[in-house]
Amino acid sequence: MTARIIDGLSVAAEKRAQCRSLTTALRERHGVVPGLAVVMVGEDPASAVYVRKKIQACADVGIASRKHLFPANASQEAVISQIAEFNADPTVHGILVQLPLPRHFDVKAVLEAIDREKDVDGFHLYNVGGLVIGDTVFPPCTPYGVMLLLDHVGVEISGRNAVVVGASNIVGKPMALMLMQREATVSVCHAKTRDLAQFTILADILVVAAGCPDLIVGPMVKSGAVVVDVGINRLADGRLVGDCHFDSVAKRASMMTPVPGGVGPMTVTMLLVNTINSAQRALTRGLRAQMACTDSSAA
Ligand code: NAD
Repeated sequence: MTARIIDGLSVAAEKRAQCRSLTTALRERHGVVPGLAVVMVGEDPASAVYVRKKIQACADVGIASRKHLFPANASQEAVISQIAEFNADPTVHGILVQLPLPRHFDVKAVLEAIDREKDVDGFHLYNVGGLVIGDTVFPPCTPYGVMLLLDHVGVEISGRNAVVVGASNIVGKPMALMLMQREATVSVCHAKTRDLAQFTILADILVVAAGCPDLIVGPMVKSGAVVVDVGINRLADGRLVGDCHFDSVAKRASMMTPVPGGVGPMTVTMLLVNTINSAQRALTRGLRAQMACTDSSAA
């Protein structure tokens, strides 16, 4: 068997075209331009690349973005006070704090400072709680993108065995919750899992997000499985690879995402989707408030 490659770039391009139509409609019918504010602390080179990609993607679909860069030694208070300004600004519909933050920051406190109605990364406790009960407003972008990819290629999820390798708050855990919400039987593996292969071999759907090149090799994969490689690893020779040994896994899987060109473009795209969703929600809230005013003055 040779896996069909799931082309994240083309699925993302399709979704971005839909985003463009939505922003055009919001602008022309309601005069609303969705806005994203990005907060970055320090100049970590990888973060700078991610932020640049996000800002370019916003421009591409008609979202107005702005970046606020703090020096690495900035205080937490200064960052939280900037977030409060963005919370109060009606032209900002989404606020994103680029992670990781420098070590002197309490990440949880910073994420909690974001208005939950503008939490387009989906990391605020309110949105995490929503995910647990299957009713989230802003699903975290990477697992959200994986779900869209699976749906796009018609993978049946209900009743299948799904194994998620990696249990971080931003990828592995929300991924497991989303698959569970769609009635998969989910196992979550992590760095302390003993004999990883005994779990991965049972997966009809295998999602790998560990950050370890070649962690998953062909014999660990069930024949015909759908494999989603979330990992992004830069090798010493400069190549970008995922967590799966591509050639051997592709021989066992029925479908597989490549790295690069798989999950990565979807992550940025789902940030655009969440930002537009937030602008639409703000518009609806505004229209409801107007109607309530009209009703009370007519009464
Ligand atoms: P993380 O370091 O926060 O978490 C890694 C998880 O993998 C942990 O739960 C850890 O226990 C587990 N793990 C580590 N080594 C393991 C091993 N040998 N066996 C089993 N489990 C192991 O990382 P993260 O932020 O979740 O990111 C994971 C990977 O996904 C990284 O390569 C990251 O660059 C990539 N990533 C990609 C995207 C994208 O858009 N494609 C987005 C976010 C993260």
